[in-house]
Amino acid sequence: MDDCFHQTPLFTFGVIADIQYADIDDGFNFRRTRRRYYRSSLQLLRNAQESWSESPVKPTFILQLGDIIDGFNKGHNASDRALDTVLREFNSGPAEVHHVWGNHEFYNFSRSTLLHSKLNSTSYSDKGGGPSAGADIYAYHFSPAPGFRFVVLDAYDVSMLGREESSEKYTTALNLLREHNSNEDLNCPPVSGGLEQRFAKFNGGFSKEQLDWLDAVLSQADEKTERVTIVSHLPVHPSSTDPVCLAWNFDELLAVLRSHSCVVCFMAGHDHDGGYHQDKDLGVHHLTLEGVIETPPDSDAFGTFSVYEDRMVLKGNGRMADRELLFP
Ligand code: ZN
Repeated sequence: MDDCFHQTPLFTFGVIADIQYADIDDGFNFRRTRRRYYRSSLQLLRNAQESWSESPVKPTFILQLGDIIDGFNKGHNASDRALDTVLREFNSGPAEVHHVWGNHEFYNFSRSTLLHSKLNSTSYSDKGGGPSAGADIYAYHFSPAPGFRFVVLDAYDVSMLGREESSEKYTTALNLLREHNSNEDLNCPPVSGGLEQRFAKFNGGFSKEQLDWLDAVLSQADEKTERVTIVSHLPVHPSSTDPVCLAWNFDELLAVLRSHSCVVCFMAGHDHDGGYHQDKDLGVHHLTLEGVIETPPDSDAFGTFSVYEDRMVLKGNGRMADRELLFP
């Protein structure tokens, strides 16, 4: 029973981003400004699972925001082993896990391998969901409770990562990068700075097909007056992330969000420092979650959301901050 001191949430869910596990010694990020704790990221995942298992209200599901294992595994021929190791941790947990795909998924596996792997969680879309965005697009939606919907997006739909070199989407991605980035190594962001920095090979974008699908999903949600949270590996609001981590066509995605009243929150990973901004237009919360991989072993980076009629409350652990997101 609710009382004036302690309101029971409608449901709760866990969030964790950029685990990037690898059985290798610590290293550094590309700019050599941040330490990466490849091995201890597994222990931080364990800490999260323990916390979720022990919580009085068990989470209904967990959102894994992408980059579950590091690209270094590929070079060590350890991709399958590393993935088994992290998934074993997740399987020991209390709830179903919704996996988002990031750049490191594609460093380790092809798109077709991923579609047939345990990182494909579209089967959960049967629970009040609907058809996915397209045969080779990893985007789906599900409803964990009446009046609430979650949409998982494929931010590497148009990308040089995971797409066959002979495909139209690969060519589109390559041409777009060459148009904006004159570096020989397209993994180096353009020197021009600002928002142009997003045109690097480790990012990607959303196809017209996926944007149209999202638009249709949100129209249905508008009609049912649902509260929608959208999840993607790449952030889409320039004020919620370092621009080097933005989705290429973030502006087109934002335009879709702004044409609907149902969206309450957009959640992403990829920028390990995290970020937050409330969009002025409709009050949508853009939240970028702190990455496990750059979190020291004596800290943590996971959170638990409690969802109420009028807000979602994030209880952060370690360097993930607490936040109260009032529904717009
Ligand atoms: Zn990433």
